[in-house]
Amino acid sequence: MRSGRSILVVGGGTAGWLTAAYLARHLGVTDRARVSITLIESPEIGIVGVGEGTFPTIRSTLKYLGIDETQFIRATSATFKQGIRFVDWAETPVDGRHSHYFHPFEAPFHSEETSLIPYWLLQDEATRPPFAEAVTIQNRVAEAQRAPKRPHEGDFDGPLNYAYHFDATRLAEVLAERAVALGVRHVADRIERAELDDRGAIARVVTEGGETFEADLYVDCSGFRAELIGQALGVPFKPVQDTLFTDRALACKLPYDRPDAPLESYTVATAHEGGWIWDIGLAGARGIGCVYSSAHVSDARAEEILSGYVGPRFAEVTPRRIAFEAGYRTRQWERNCVAVGLAAGFMEPLESTGVVLIEAAIAMIAELFPLNGPVDAPARRFNELMNARYDNIVSFLKLHYCLSRREEPFWRRNADPATIPERLRDLLDQWRYRPPGRFDFTLDTESFAYFNYQYILYGMGFQTDLGPVREEFPLVEEAKAIFARVRAFSERAAHDLPPHRALIEHINASG
Ligand code: FAD
Repeated sequence: MRSGRSILVVGGGTAGWLTAAYLARHLGVTDRARVSITLIESPEIGIVGVGEGTFPTIRSTLKYLGIDETQFIRATSATFKQGIRFVDWAETPVDGRHSHYFHPFEAPFHSEETSLIPYWLLQDEATRPPFAEAVTIQNRVAEAQRAPKRPHEGDFDGPLNYAYHFDATRLAEVLAERAVALGVRHVADRIERAELDDRGAIARVVTEGGETFEADLYVDCSGFRAELIGQALGVPFKPVQDTLFTDRALACKLPYDRPDAPLESYTVATAHEGGWIWDIGLAGARGIGCVYSSAHVSDARAEEILSGYVGPRFAEVTPRRIAFEAGYRTRQWERNCVAVGLAAGFMEPLESTGVVLIEAAIAMIAELFPLNGPVDAPARRFNELMNARYDNIVSFLKLHYCLSRREEPFWRRNADPATIPERLRDLLDQWRYRPPGRFDFTLDTESFAYFNYQYILYGMGFQTDLGPVREEFPLVEEAKAIFARVRAFSERAAHDLPPHRALIEHINASG
């Protein structure tokens, strides 16, 4: 059955190509030609070209698109990512002493009968190991610069959960190639204007080259320019800057100083007086960026902070400044237009939620896409679910900031309860007496699970006081045995798994 529906994707960054490829795969552009998909992008505007960190969901997305992992790693200079190491977030460093904690992708180990969390909480604070180290083997593996898998393990599979770091520009190229192979038509031209019909929906878009394109559904992936959802349809943007304060980034790439330099399989996120610095090890270079709040740190000071982090080799790099406003469109699906990626919203780079939000949106568009009937039928539900997802991410990101004991004004303001979303404040109050649990969250609107919250809370030194109900947790000996097993497995895995750099070199040399 052919419905003859057409989709026009505007923008050829990660959002545009991922959307086009995913919809082509899901809606079967090539096999039954039910739907046609065209993507227009302006090479002269170009793409934002940042966004080197991802979340494990990317593996199933790439697999679904039929992309080969080895080829993907080679084509995008990718490395494995097992989590994020947060440095100096809990406290301002004193006399060269730095606090740190790890947020791994692996869930805490648990057996059917015993959750380890209460038993860790009840241990002596002064002598217990850090939370992530006690409950998962991934912490030690990553700290030992080991990979999450062995060379012979299958595509997208491994004993440990992982995502990737990659070169964002090359990712868009890989996705473009795949989308075109899946039947997407590619047009390189710049959209000059969108014309509306008498009901206020998009009637057509007109390009600089003088061509006109009409479609049933327009997907706005035009990045921060938001050509359709913002400029043509005027859908309001909801800023969240009263909660999340960073609004600028200064990004650069630094080649390694020697070919065998250690290669971390985690993002290092180091807090500074008015934000944080990302440090990501790609195959040929490190991607480093200073994220900051312009209300607290001037551009010149941000450059000094980045220079202080990079050291003398800062003279070799040309940092690029990117301004952003944290927030999102409350109606991302409006009439016959749906926005995906930066056009829909952006919070900030922490926890790599950019691609996660794109994945959430396209999975929903693919499922809800009306092959028949009004094309805006899913709009209300889509907006409801995406708004909840954005709000939940705002809270999760805020959690990283609001628990800090750092003293600079940026951090004190972050800890001010008036800047913390009400639901998060309520949960924090409850978590003083019990750890986060699965009923705190509604899975369909969450990108992060309760254990992600546990890693951040307990990494930051949050106190959940189970002392008065200690006798409710009698399986102390069983828990002790499990902690010991986690430790033994960690040591074995940190020994058995290959060095991260060796695995990346093996992948790049093979085939
Ligand atoms: P863009 O890459 O900007 O693409 C927009 C496209 O639209 C381009 O092809 C452009 O040419 C086209 N276009 C625009 N106007 C027109 C027009 N008039 N006519 C034709 N074409 C047009 N995400 C993560 O997941 N992890 C991270 O670690 C991460 N870090 C980030 C760090 C920073 C500083 C920033 C700003 C973002 C980060 N992100 C991250 C978000 C991530 O970069 C984006 O989600 C992702 O790149 C998608 O961008 P996009 O495709 O929406 O926009």
